Amino acid sequence: MTQVHPPSGSGSRIVVVEDDADIRRFVRVALESEGHDVTEAASVQRGLVEAGTRRPDLVVVDLGLPDGDGVDFIREFRAWSSAPVLVLSARAGERDKVRALDAGADDYLVKPFGSAELLARARAHLRRRQMAGPDEAVLSFGDVTIDRAHRRVTRAGDLVHLTPIEYRLLTLLAARPDRVLTHRVLLQELWGPSHADDTHYVRVHMANLRKKIEDDPSRPRWLLTETGVGYRFASDST
Ligand code: CA
Repeated sequence: MTQVHPPSGSGSRIVVVEDDADIRRFVRVALESEGHDVTEAASVQRGLVEAGTRRPDLVVVDLGLPDGDGVDFIREFRAWSSAPVLVLSARAGERDKVRALDAGADDYLVKPFGSAELLARARAHLRRRQMAGPDEAVLSFGDVTIDRAHRRVTRAGDLVHLTPIEYRLLTLLAARPDRVLTHRVLLQELWGPSHADDTHYVRVHMANLRKKIEDDPSRPRWLLTETGVGYRFASDST
C-alpha cells in the first residue's frame, strides 16, 4: 500500500505581493494546492501590513508595484524577518532583479512562469527554512563532504585540495542551497567592498572550483550560473 505524504513545508504561511490580479490568483491557487495558507496583497504598503500580521514563512513579491518598488518591500521586511523571499520579475528587468537579490531576496522567477516551477522553488525554500541553518558543521551533497570544523573537503572519500578562496566560495554557496548569490554579494564576502565590481575574479575561481567538485565542469550539477546575476547552489531536489 502506498503511503501518501503531504508535500514538504505544507501548511506554511505565505504572503503574495503582486498588483496583477491574474498572476496573484494564479500564484495563490498553485500554493493553496499544496496546502499552504496564502494571503494576498496588491501594494508595498498592504504587503508590509500583511507580512507584519501574518509573520509568513515565505514571501512572493513582484517588483513593479503601484505604490513603490518591491525592493523597498524587501528592505523593510528584511529588517525583521529572515524568511525566504521569492521575487517575480519581468525578463527585461535584470537590473531590478539584481537589486532585489542584493537587498535580501533569495531567488527569482522570470515571468511568465509555470506552477510546477513556482512550487518547486517554494518547496526548496520552505524546506531550507525548516532545516538547520547555515551554521551546520558538515555539509554534504552527492559524493562531496565539507567538514567546516576542520576546513576539509572530500570527494568520494578523497581529500580535495581547494585554495582558501575556492573553499570560501564553495561554503558560501553550499550553506545557502537554492539561493541566488549575486556577483556583488560574493565579491564582498570574498574580497571586501572595494572589489565589488570585479566580477571576473569570481568567474575564474568558480571555473577552478567546478573542475575539482563537478563530474562535468562544463555542465555543472551543483554550482549553477545565473546568467548576468550570479550563482546558485542546486540542492538535491532541484
Ligand atoms: Ca506589477
